[in-house]
Amino acid sequence: MADFSGKKAVVIGGSRGIGAAIVRRLASEGASVRFTWAGSRAKAEDLARESGTEAVHADATDRSAILAATRDVGPIDIFVFNAGICIAGDPLALDPDDIDRMIDINIRAAYHCAVEAARAMPDGGRIILIGSTNANRVPFKGLAAYSMTKSALQSMVRGLARDFGERRITVNVIQPGPTDTDMNPANGPEASLMHSVMAIKEHGSADDVAAYVSFLAGPTARGITGAMQTIDGGFSA
Ligand code: NDP
Repeated sequence: MADFSGKKAVVIGGSRGIGAAIVRRLASEGASVRFTWAGSRAKAEDLARESGTEAVHADATDRSAILAATRDVGPIDIFVFNAGICIAGDPLALDPDDIDRMIDINIRAAYHCAVEAARAMPDGGRIILIGSTNANRVPFKGLAAYSMTKSALQSMVRGLARDFGERRITVNVIQPGPTDTDMNPANGPEASLMHSVMAIKEHGSADDVAAYVSFLAGPTARGITGAMQTIDGGFSA
């Protein structure tokens, strides 16, 4: 376990799934954690109570709300952008407004919040985005737009790593493969199709992704920056 006593962490999109596991992990390792929620008030309030963290309502499609949630906590040592939605299906049939909403959450909000977090971040801070293994590999139909949003994060972290490197701030993206959450249940209808292209034919767990965040946020990861950290059971092998 890492020791983040005295460190301040912000997790954008922390009410459920991978985000909630990250909130729990960082709080259990001593960080003071603020997280945002958009639709899941009850889950956010329960998590805040149980983990001793602060829950703030901010929809990632509302730029001023999300920037205020990032800014108003003061200098942040560890910033995690986890919020994301997956709109998948026939590109000829999908609603363009849904695609734009996904781009707003998965790309625009990630970029603006990461920059805002860096503004007052102390030297040696950590910026971690949650991407997807689909940035590397798209073996199924229907995932073009979602995968595009996640591959945008790759060049984002490469560039921001250069921008903030003199302050020893590291910027990385963690790219999970199929992970058992509401978005992608291990017993869902697509699970066996996903497993068919994986070396280890099972869903990963949100706690494993949270452990990766903890490692990247810790002192021994000081030299890892501008990098893609894939944890996908061999989905992209
Ligand atoms: P879930 O659907 O279980 O949770 C999504 C989280 O994002 C929730 O906390 C939700 O908050 C938040 N969120 C969604 N929309 C918004 C919004 N408009 N504004 C703010 N927050 C929002 O998904 P996962 O935990 O599975 O996914 C987390 C991240 O991991 C996403 O970026 C996803 O793309 C990525 N990922 C997931 C994989 C998987 O297999 N599960 C695989 C690869 C990547 P609320 O409910 O309060 O709205």
